[in-house]
Amino acid sequence: MKNPACYLSGYSPCDAKLSGDHLISKSLLSQLGDNAVYIEGLPWCKGLKRVGVNSITGRVLCRLHNSQLSDFDSSASLLFRCLHQLPKRIVETEQREECVVNGLNVERWMLKTAATLLASGNATRNGQVIRSSLNPTWPSILMRKADFSEGCGLFLERPACGTTEMMPEFTIRLNWMDEECVGVTTSFLGFVFHLHTKRVESGSDYLYRPGGMIFQRGNVEKVMAIHYGSAQCGQAPIIKV
Ligand SMILES: [Zn+2]
Repeated sequence: MKNPACYLSGYSPCDAKLSGDHLISKSLLSQLGDNAVYIEGLPWCKGLKRVGVNSITGRVLCRLHNSQLSDFDSSASLLFRCLHQLPKRIVETEQREECVVNGLNVERWMLKTAATLLASGNATRNGQVIRSSLNPTWPSILMRKADFSEGCGLFLERPACGTTEMMPEFTIRLNWMDEECVGVTTSFLGFVFHLHTKRVESGSDYLYRPGGMIFQRGNVEKVMAIHYGSAQCGQAPIIKV
């Protein structure tokens, strides 16, 4: 069946019930605050607003499609947990530790977040709410039937050494080319990631499909590796902490 409120309804069968899908993954919001977080920039909040984690939902995916995309949330949550925890672990134990994050899932998590913001009327451009249909290529990418175009996907802004903000602040912004959403920028603890769905010229400060990050203090290293299936990955910058 097709659930008309689900933005993947034209692609594969739906469940009759809508999920309480979060605009931003609940597992990520929970890292920012136990039950409530401060948010701003959504059309319905004026200035900084404290809201319960469970109230930031979109209801634009049926339960079946939402469950089919849940791996993306898990991978993004692991990525942000590593960025948060590994620099702290370095002072707790000298043992080398490594975690591995699925970068293909992180790319699709950024795309899913953009799709959810657009479909739920929570996307803005220059302060104006944008209600636009999804780019027709997005559903097949989300359902893992297609990959991003050549040269598109995840980019990391080369991080400045030794700077990791201690406040767990998270931002996300949709990027536009004319009327079309062509990507997402997200930052967490000062680390900035971009998803490009259209190929753009990027400077040397942008690492395409970074191979991870290495947190280093003296001889102690904590490693977050990011892999992209059979696709090649770029270097993993070293962050001195
Ligand atoms: Zn559905």
